[in-house]
Amino acid sequence: MKYKKIIIITSVIFLLGCFALSELNGLGTVKGEVTVIHTDNDSWHIDYNFDQSVIGIMTGPETKKYHDSSWDLPEDFHFTKDESGYSWLEKKDKSAFKKISVNVKTYKKIVFYAPQPFANFNQGVSINTGPLGFASKIRLLGLVEMMHNFDLRYSFIGLKDESILVPNSDSTEDIAIKGSGYFVFFGNRDMITESEQVQLLLDNDFPSSLRADVLSTAEKFMTLYNKEFGKVLNGKLMIQMTYDKNSRNAGKGFGIGGGAQNGQFAGIMSGSFDSIPIAKVTMKLRTFMAHEMGHIWQSHIGMDDMRWMNEGGAEIISHRGMVRLGMLTEKGFNTFLNKYLVESIEDLQKVSLEAPHKKGYEQLNYSGGSLAVWAACAAIDGDNKSDNIFKMNRELAKFSKDSLTRFPKDCIASTFTKLGMNQEKIDGIDHFINTKHKNPQDAYAKLFDLTGIPYKIKGDSIFIVE
Ligand SMILES: [Zn+2]
Repeated sequence: MKYKKIIIITSVIFLLGCFALSELNGLGTVKGEVTVIHTDNDSWHIDYNFDQSVIGIMTGPETKKYHDSSWDLPEDFHFTKDESGYSWLEKKDKSAFKKISVNVKTYKKIVFYAPQPFANFNQGVSINTGPLGFASKIRLLGLVEMMHNFDLRYSFIGLKDESILVPNSDSTEDIAIKGSGYFVFFGNRDMITESEQVQLLLDNDFPSSLRADVLSTAEKFMTLYNKEFGKVLNGKLMIQMTYDKNSRNAGKGFGIGGGAQNGQFAGIMSGSFDSIPIAKVTMKLRTFMAHEMGHIWQSHIGMDDMRWMNEGGAEIISHRGMVRLGMLTEKGFNTFLNKYLVESIEDLQKVSLEAPHKKGYEQLNYSGGSLAVWAACAAIDGDNKSDNIFKMNRELAKFSKDSLTRFPKDCIASTFTKLGMNQEKIDGIDHFINTKHKNPQDAYAKLFDLTGIPYKIKGDSIFIVE
């Protein structure tokens, strides 16, 4: 299938903070301490000590393979999955606990559509604190189960002679890490390059032809995003990129995966690119970086059913950004849209844009999501449609995090209205995203007519024209 092939050769892009834990709505907070000890090359010992009893630790989207192969749990514990597909570390008898110690093995493969647990460098390894626990479940009055935020303090202990690098911290002990977590590096400090704006950790065997481009690309997008969205980082942007010529996902060829969280992003590049022109590889790397950095600057909206907006938004931000910076032509941008148009038609027959995660069509968030976001950009008033993605995000950023998470559709509709979109267009876009279309091509034609995107239909196919 052409579609499958596209996914495989395209950079696989993940968003670590893509599931909004802030949905917990401040019902309560569990405090505690977590100690992460690097016990030998591939092994970690993790001690959890909470200030109150919990009945579960939420470890993010289900990653069964990783949990089965790499977590060594005490006898009386296991992982379970809830109805929304998230995994929980619980006691088998569902009783409450305040402490647990586990051993975890460094996981070398890419974990698809989930926070990457580790980034493996040739002189060190980063462990991501996110997948160690995003939230907790407590039992109130012995009856009602409730989700609570974690407010944990982390301490890190490395091997002898090993340096530890915690983002935005000079210390390695008693550090507050909230939400989506940090990639904490254990290894050789010589691998770190710093500029005024960026702290860069690059694998020693990261291809020399691409090394210099990573820092300059990061700085260019940082300047652009700061200008368009305002400053969002407290300190430097931390980038961690590793390379493994032997693809960690057998048969998948060259690809880049990773994700953004808390002012940093990690990238895992794997597979040989000997047979791919270097300009194309550079482009793929820049696209990946621009997308992940886009997540750091954009406003995160809603939960899983709004991933089309978050992922499609990051795709449009990054590609319009590349056009702005002269890395992509308008023609190239059009090709990007049409590739996603072709790709998404097949999937939109099977699932609406609001439900891809439930049915295993994650890629639709990127493909159909980009088209829906681009249609919204086209429907916004103004002379320069290509800048509307920045305008839209500046406007969305005016809502509180809580509103964006709990009432995403209201925030979007009100933003669209403020930007001069009429109700018919707002409803049309909403209909496009919440419907499983019998005929996606017709649905696209209607969406494009409504929002003013120029297109042509030739035989069986529809495509956007410049
Ligand atoms: Zn993403």
